[in-house]
Amino acid sequence: MDYDVIIVGASIAGCTAAIEYGRAGLRVALLERHRSPQAHKTLCGHFILGGTHDVLRRLGFWQPMLDRGAAVTTGLGVWTGSGWIVPTPGNGVPPAISLRRSKLDPLLREIAAATPGVDLLMGHRVTGLAETGVVTDAGTRLHARLVVGADGHHSTVARLAGVGEDVAPNERFLFWTYYEGALMNGPGDGQVWQLDPDVAVCIQAGDGLTLVGVFPAKHRLAEFTEDRAAAFDRFVARLPGGPSLSGARQVSNLIGTTDYPCVRRDPTPRPWLALIGDAATASDPVPAVGCGWAFRSAAWLAEATTGPLRDGGDLRPALRQYRRAHRFIDRYDDLGRQDALARPPAALRRVIRAAGVTDPWIARRLAMFGMRAAAPSVLLNPKVVVRALLRSRLAG
Ligand SMILES: Cc1cc2nc3c(=O)[nH]c(=O)nc-3n(C[C@H](O)[C@H](O)[C@H](O)COP(=O)(O)OP(=O)(O)OC[C@H]3O[C@@H](n4cnc5c(N)ncnc54)[C@H](O)[C@@H]3O)c2cc1C
Repeated sequence: MDYDVIIVGASIAGCTAAIEYGRAGLRVALLERHRSPQAHKTLCGHFILGGTHDVLRRLGFWQPMLDRGAAVTTGLGVWTGSGWIVPTPGNGVPPAISLRRSKLDPLLREIAAATPGVDLLMGHRVTGLAETGVVTDAGTRLHARLVVGADGHHSTVARLAGVGEDVAPNERFLFWTYYEGALMNGPGDGQVWQLDPDVAVCIQAGDGLTLVGVFPAKHRLAEFTEDRAAAFDRFVARLPGGPSLSGARQVSNLIGTTDYPCVRRDPTPRPWLALIGDAATASDPVPAVGCGWAFRSAAWLAEATTGPLRDGGDLRPALRQYRRAHRFIDRYDDLGRQDALARPPAALRRVIRAAGVTDPWIARRLAMFGMRAAAPSVLLNPKVVVRALLRSRLAG
């Protein structure tokens, strides 16, 4: 069977790309190894940073996500050793959104399946690759000019194509759980604690639930191995301005992982193959960037390649355009990999963070950076550094 595009993996990245291509009039095969459209990723905190807000609105996903119970976060309070950075309402930082994957993944598949031109093929695991297409475990052969690997962190497509991996260590581990009736005590409608090197979060998870998560450095692993639940409760109880949980009901077990290295692959490894989402960049989960990267990289790829796929033009310049757009992610991923080493923060970083406590101009830039709503230069530039240093000198 012939298609314009074959997409392997019907989760965030794959569904997004399929929907974009289908809406542009292309014929798309969207293959997913799971049989049930309700299948979803469980290892995900599903907090989608504000930098993705515009893309979600443009794609028409924002309102359906709200209709399924998503929570919107307009401003995070950030605890630093020097006090809270309090979000200022109306400061132009785009809102984040959170919808559990048990709802998000089926919703995206529903939209994809209803898009003309998209054949959503559930229960099709890709096991072989050829320049003009893929082979599934049932022996089905499909052909297309472009194959897209949207098959996640362990990308089979990338492995089958012999694409190299750049793996970097992650020196933190992660556990979180959900509460009904939790009361937030910190500023904003969600909080992050930068405890250097540990990190913790308390965010609205949708449907009235609150997600409380801890991301300690690995030297604390033994403590959590001994009694995970007790170590988690102790950690949360000691958070300055942490949530009140005494009247709350914990509605899930602890979810998490003790090791999650960062993986990066060339997003355009062959003239007929592109990788999107985690298949291209599986970043450190702590700053909650992955879902946003999946939506955004899928949209960038579709935007770059739709023209040549429709009119039979050369795909190579289009893939180079996608590669250039992907540098936005690469730059943040470089910084994320340094942070994932869980080393004490550089003095300058501490100074900028401390300045954010008293200076709303710097606080806004910290928030734009944290929400991945602008390139890293929104924060990492000489103007911010000089202003932060002056504040630090004035403070004493
Ligand atoms: C502990 C943890 C917490 C996280 N928390 C957050 C967070 O709060 N916010 C955030 O933005 N990101 C978070 N992330 C990252 C986020 O989960 C991922 O970045 C995101 O799921 C990537 O989406 P994707 O569509 O690229 O891949 P995936 O969601 O992994 O989807 C890949 C799809 O491909 C299918 N597939 C795989 N192999 C094949 C095959 N051979 N044939 C057919 N189909 C196949 C899979 O079944 C799956 O449906 C977290 C990650 C971890 C590990």
